[in-house]
Amino acid sequence: MLPVIDPKASRDPRSGLSGLDRRALEAWLADRGAPGFRARQLHDALWRGPAASATEVTTLPSPLAAALDDAFRWSTVTEEALVLADGGQTEKALHRLSDGSTIESVLMHYPARAGRRARHTLCISSQAGCAVGCPFCATGELGFGRDLETAEILDQVRGALTRLRAREDGARLTNVVFMGMGEPLLNLDRVLEAVEALNDPGRLGLGARHITVSTSGVVPGIRRLTALGPQFTLAVSLHAARDALRDVLVPLNRRWPVAEVVEAARAHAAATGRRISYEYTMIGGVNDTDVDAEALATLLRGDLAHVNLIPMNPVAHTPWTASAMPVIERFAARLEGAGIPVTIRRNRGQEIGAACGQLAAERAGEPAAPAVARRRERLVAQSSRALRGQRSEDPVPAGVDS
Ligand code: SAH
Ligand code: SF4
Repeated sequence: MLPVIDPKASRDPRSGLSGLDRRALEAWLADRGAPGFRARQLHDALWRGPAASATEVTTLPSPLAAALDDAFRWSTVTEEALVLADGGQTEKALHRLSDGSTIESVLMHYPARAGRRARHTLCISSQAGCAVGCPFCATGELGFGRDLETAEILDQVRGALTRLRAREDGARLTNVVFMGMGEPLLNLDRVLEAVEALNDPGRLGLGARHITVSTSGVVPGIRRLTALGPQFTLAVSLHAARDALRDVLVPLNRRWPVAEVVEAARAHAAATGRRISYEYTMIGGVNDTDVDAEALATLLRGDLAHVNLIPMNPVAHTPWTASAMPVIERFAARLEGAGIPVTIRRNRGQEIGAACGQLAAERAGEPAAPAVARRRERLVAQSSRALRGQRSEDPVPAGVDS
């Protein structure tokens, strides 16, 4: 496992200001004799203003601003690097947190076309690293670092807003997707707080339909979301419809098998009336055969669902590459034939490693060559056993079933 956290780095004990909702801010202000309207003013300054500290908000009395800067961090993430790809249409930011952890966010610009308005979609992280350990994912290889604080999730969004404001074309953030580093449903309390802030008209004010949370299949988390009612679009990373193969590709399948995941997702769709978006990363010769397409069609037939096929982004240290486009198209046609809506997602920012986690993995340093070779051999052996239908006897990843 590669180190995500620099143990020498200090962690600032102050919490992030953006992690406080209006009630919490009002309570803090009331304790200091400040009127409640200051909370709205602060939210405005955080989400719409150029200030980089409370002291820079000219409408705040200076003793109050100083007290705020003493108690809270104005932003909990720094932009350590910004890498552009696709002619500037994809911007990948590497953020450093106060304890030295690194996380990533990716801002993707989609120009207006054929009656559709331009979109500006931000992909954010919910954890530093990830415990699930999907072997085709750079974040999975990093291992788990820690959960992000609510403010650390939100400050990735504020960073993107600052960059959007600097553009001359009036671009606005239209979508936020939790598809960066980490498993959002294993940090669900903070993710829900962050979503509430994104929804709140006094903060970002983004409609629930414009927010997507993607999970690798944490069944208790999906059930909790179903009980809460629709807050956002739920995306489920499937990658295989057969348990033996999914045990290898999404190791938490050893805890919550695919049928249970789809059952929970189906109940979510039924309760909320919102269709589930299933993600399926296409890996050449591994999960892209006719048998896989049939298994997937059987699993989802008649469901309120949509399948997104994603050609695997090249990541280091795996024996695999993306399926060829004709293979993906054939797979898509089989699903369509079974009445399942399907789209093929164009990869963004391949040259900068837009599969989240890659930039952070590169910064974490290259593991020793023999370790990489052993990992590749292990994955080849595991996937060929799986393709013969053998279930994995490996344990459920640590930290998944809390
Ligand atoms: N942990 C959550 C959300 C983050 S990953 C989840 O797994 O759903 C977001 C999506 O990117 C997931 O569907 C994930 O499987 C996919 N992904 C990860 N690495 C990839 C790669 N190398 N190529 C294509 N998709 C990848
Ligand atoms: Fe974690 Fe998602 Fe990557 Fe799997 S694909 S390791 S769940 S971030």
